[in-house]
Amino acid sequence: MPPILIKSVCKGHDLVDVFINGRFFEKIAKEISLEDVPLNTKVIDGANKTIISPFYNAHTHAAMTLLRGYADDMGLFKWLSEYIWPLESKITPEDVYWGSRLAILEMIKSGTVFFADMYWNREETIRAVIEMGVRATIGVTFAENLMSKESIEKNFDFLEQNVACHERIQLAVMPHSIYTVGDALWKRCAETAQRLGLILHTHIAETAEEVENCIKKTGKTPVQYLDSLGVLDNNVVLAHAIHLTSEDIAILEKRKVTLVHNPASNMKLSSGKMNISALMKAGIPIALGTDGASSNNNLDMGEEMKLAALLAKLEGNPELLNAEEAFQMATVRGAKAYRVNAGEIKEGMLADALLIDLNNERLIPNHHFLSNWVYSADARSIDKVICHGKTIMENGAVENESEILENVKKFAMKK
Ligand SMILES: [Zn+2]
Repeated sequence: MPPILIKSVCKGHDLVDVFINGRFFEKIAKEISLEDVPLNTKVIDGANKTIISPFYNAHTHAAMTLLRGYADDMGLFKWLSEYIWPLESKITPEDVYWGSRLAILEMIKSGTVFFADMYWNREETIRAVIEMGVRATIGVTFAENLMSKESIEKNFDFLEQNVACHERIQLAVMPHSIYTVGDALWKRCAETAQRLGLILHTHIAETAEEVENCIKKTGKTPVQYLDSLGVLDNNVVLAHAIHLTSEDIAILEKRKVTLVHNPASNMKLSSGKMNISALMKAGIPIALGTDGASSNNNLDMGEEMKLAALLAKLEGNPELLNAEEAFQMATVRGAKAYRVNAGEIKEGMLADALLIDLNNERLIPNHHFLSNWVYSADARSIDKVICHGKTIMENGAVENESEILENVKKFAMKK
């Protein structure tokens, strides 16, 4: 992989040269001479481009691209039990591979280089991630209602044996939810994640029904229930987190938990709205995720970022979640949530970047680039996507695109 030197590119208000060597941003300076970089360095002209962090999708189910548009316009429990779970039971590992590749293709083209994935047949998603050059936190998923005892044991074995599986991939323990995993398994998941130094990620307080059922069964809210089991800690990342009490928020703050906001999915399933003002006031870190393509129905983090910013304004305060904060939620917050040393264009950090074409009609005039990027732009202005020091999209094209599309079409035909 040859080093990359990007000449005269906008970074914030400055014009800089950016030198990427191996996986990292090695030097960012006003001027880096060609004499100071190795002979095989690839030089990119940054004129009329700006360099920014790509997106880090903190909650998705990549291969659910296979189910895009299959069941829409209904609530979460009906959607899961009558449509999604029955069709998922017919999905083969090969299908998951192609569904994951389609998801990654879509993510790269819309500027995302990392995703946290909760799904089945993780080996296939891992294969897709390695081949396509992105990075991911891959979940080892637990749902007792859908799994045999034997497959649960296999999951734990897989975690023990594959902690360091690839330089762009880390594993995480992902019990699906409080309504699909029981007390004992929750405790075992938490203990395993702690012992192996892994993130534990789950869905929480997504619907009012989930909270009501949990209170009926345990006398506690979902957050209080997980806390009583000793699950909540600074390695825990919780998706949705919509229906929270002030006591729940105090617990999340105390345990240093990170949350993931999923505005499109939450709106589409009528699940509810995250209480951004209360959570931000409590100082709880919030990342952003698309959720799966069957409840969104795309994996475009740019859209998600705009929705997050707009939805926050509905709380009656137009200053809430400004463009800068929405951008951070979609980038560095996601990277930090999963302990990836990325999400900012900085020396010493992993070299992930987008080169944005400033001559795109949606970015003109350029009074405030970040405002344009959050509220106006779409993915067409992305000129290049760099991940782990390597260009993975150039001139809008990703390797083997048509092969991916054809294979996913075949899945839809045989359903
Ligand atoms: Zn989800």
